[in-house]
Amino acid sequence: MSTPHRVVIVGAGLAGASAAAALREQGFTGEVTLFGQETHHPYELPPLSKGILLGERDEPDWVRADGYYRDHAIDLRRGTAITALRPAEHTVVDADGTEHPYDRLLLATGSRSRSLPGLAGPGVHLLRTLDDALALRTELTPDACVVIIGAGWIGCEAAAAARTRGARVTVIDPGRTPLRRVLGDEIGEVFRTLHTDHGVTFHLGAAVTGADTGLVRLTNGMELPADVVIAGVGAVPRTELAEAAGLTLAAGGVAVDATLRTSAPDVYAVGDIAAHDHPRYDGRVRVDHWANAKNQGAHVAANLLGADAPYTADPYFFSDQYELGCEYRGLADPDHDELVLRGDPTTREFLAFWLRDGHITAALNVNSWDHGDTLRELVATRARATPRQLAEEDLETLATAETPQAS
Ligand SMILES: Cc1cc2nc3c(=O)[nH]c(=O)nc-3n(C[C@H](O)[C@H](O)[C@H](O)COP(=O)(O)OP(=O)(O)OC[C@H]3O[C@@H](n4cnc5c(N)ncnc54)[C@H](O)[C@@H]3O)c2cc1C
Repeated sequence: MSTPHRVVIVGAGLAGASAAAALREQGFTGEVTLFGQETHHPYELPPLSKGILLGERDEPDWVRADGYYRDHAIDLRRGTAITALRPAEHTVVDADGTEHPYDRLLLATGSRSRSLPGLAGPGVHLLRTLDDALALRTELTPDACVVIIGAGWIGCEAAAAARTRGARVTVIDPGRTPLRRVLGDEIGEVFRTLHTDHGVTFHLGAAVTGADTGLVRLTNGMELPADVVIAGVGAVPRTELAEAAGLTLAAGGVAVDATLRTSAPDVYAVGDIAAHDHPRYDGRVRVDHWANAKNQGAHVAANLLGADAPYTADPYFFSDQYELGCEYRGLADPDHDELVLRGDPTTREFLAFWLRDGHITAALNVNSWDHGDTLRELVATRARATPRQLAEEDLETLATAETPQAS
């Protein structure tokens, strides 16, 4: 593969901006153009549902400092949406109809918040962008009546922020416990009690049929008053450019091989939209979390320049809610994998592991920060362990013991 002269990146979020920076850090001297629909400099999303909603800060974490893009000759085109991709011609087209040629293209268009039919209008908020977070924050006043639809990560973090600001908060979710899809019911219960201890009301096992000004209606017939409604019902990868251009889609995202290359020549994809043929997992893995966007963005730079290196990192994410912080590594199926607890979850300081056929598939640390490297190692090697070893024995010894790789 020849060395490119022009690299174009569509999507100036964490993944796209990390890739642009990595291209320069790896010595690439050709043109780098980074298109971003938003008018802000590239920023990281996690503070939006934490420090910014809490009112502790007004700015997110910027992917690179102000001036970095100019100083590194990265042509950052803010407020410029790309509306078409023509792989055969090696061009993308912006909203004004201007064509931009590329030798290598990176798609890093991220996700948009999912919306629900019947949920719109004044007082109904999504939480995806800095502007979303700043607009929502002004409404999270003491005693505001806030109804949050969805008890996933965004819903739970928004609930924590709203309660901390003194709002009255109700969370609705069709599941039995918050976060059950990722963590299962037993750990989900830890999060439910965390929130109820802080004064949140849950309506679980119920869905929303619609919301009019001031009122949210549930499938169980209940009607809840609401000054503010936050729809935290998931995110949808922004695959429309790829789809219209005929690229292969999979698992809700843009199909990429182990090296993050799409089905179109010279086109790669990273971050939330990448449905990755991960060398160490069965089936495609699409991870919509911070570390994946950051690390895939950095990793793909070498491949854009001609390398062929597979991306092999395990999924990782973190969350902060009230005084609880947690990290999760790996990819478990909580409905089928065996849960092993180390420590008492009611203390909200514990570790959890998931085992499949005797191998670790994922690890969670809650308010416990001493074992990060060890947990990463145990997950990366798919270490074989018994529940008793994980619950009682020295984890560092377990991690350094010879551990067979999962096939
Ligand atoms: C509120 C919130 C809190 C989060 N908190 C955490 C957390 O605590 N821990 C964690 O692990 N993960 C968290 N995440 C998830 C994590 O931030 C995302 O997975 C990550 O930001 C994805 O990065 P990305 O670059 O793929 O996409 P994005 O960050 O969505 O960036 C994509 C960018 O591309 C732009 N774009 C899209 N289409 C076009 C186009 N056609 N032309 C030009 N530009 C375009 C978009 O405007 C956007 O700016 C959070 C997400 C949100 C929304």
